Amino acid sequence: MSVEVKSVERPKRNFWEQTYIPEIIKGLGVTLGHFFGVVARPKKNIFTVSYPDVKRDYPDRFRGKHRLMLREDGQVRCVACMCCSTVCPANCIHITAAEHDDPNIEKYPEVFVIDHLRCIVCGLCVEACPCDAIRMDTGTHCEPFTDRNKAFLDRDLLMQLGAHSAAEQGGRYSA
Ligand code: SF4
Ligand code: SF4
Repeated sequence: MSVEVKSVERPKRNFWEQTYIPEIIKGLGVTLGHFFGVVARPKKNIFTVSYPDVKRDYPDRFRGKHRLMLREDGQVRCVACMCCSTVCPANCIHITAAEHDDPNIEKYPEVFVIDHLRCIVCGLCVEACPCDAIRMDTGTHCEPFTDRNKAFLDRDLLMQLGAHSAAEQGGRYSA
């Protein structure tokens, strides 16, 4: 079988093209054009902010860090039904249920941990909860950390967040 080989002639470069100097100058011209364009632009049209000194407002539909809501007596509202952990697509909620001393309350979460490095912030756990025990309205997100263990938000921490209203924590809803 014969293979047709198509030969392409290399274009001839003149002296200046060989040096690449005019092309480098052209490239720098584009960069400088953008630089002076940004400097000359009115401030309101500049979209970068000096984070962390300046922070952007989150959009209205932003889902913040989770919190576990409390009953009036300060106990956790969660009844360890496992609906949230079952629906969670990232499989990042771990709950261990325990019998409650109060006969009117069947169960409570002895362990309730959310792994925030796995959470995809979909909000399905909030949708699935039958007793409004878990919310994502704090308006904050997990801070950066260097220790993997800090990604686990445990029950007590989630309850502490639940003890304060969302508005107190920077969230948009005051419930
Ligand atoms: S927000 Fe989504 S991924 Fe995160 S814990 Fe809830 S259900 Fe799981
Ligand atoms: S947070 Fe809600 S859905 Fe999840 S275990 Fe508790 S009661 Fe059930």
